[in-house]
Amino acid sequence: MAEKIGLVPNYFKDLSKGQAPEILYIGCSDSRVTAEVLMDVKPGEVFVHRNIANLVNHIDLNVMSVLNYAVTVLQVNHIFVCGNDHCGGVKSAIQPADLGILKPWLRNIRDVYRLHKDELNAKELEEKRYD
Ligand SMILES: [Zn+2]
Repeated sequence: MAEKIGLVPNYFKDLSKGQAPEILYIGCSDSRVTAEVLMDVKPGEVFVHRNIANLVNHIDLNVMSVLNYAVTVLQVNHIFVCGNDHCGGVKSAIQPADLGILKPWLRNIRDVYRLHKDELNAKELEEKRYD
């Protein structure tokens, strides 16, 4: 924080004036795929929602609230839903291990896997299965 203030004296003062992002980014919570770094944008330029495996589920009040706010209040012009290769959430959903609270969260991915198991288990997809 002190570094930011040192580099840009009015950093927090300027940010407190409000936001008018043109983009809503929905991505994975994976620590390697932050929206700002991937898109090379500054604070205030992208409205961000992240969750494990970047799921957009119509019964998830969190993502639906973010989507509604971004579209109706912020009036973003673009919505990016960004997945990541080697997603730990996707990998966890496909594996039979007990995931605790993650189990219901990843259910939609498990359902897709169950419905397309033969196709996804094909030898030629072995290295891309979790992508
Ligand atoms: Zn991921």
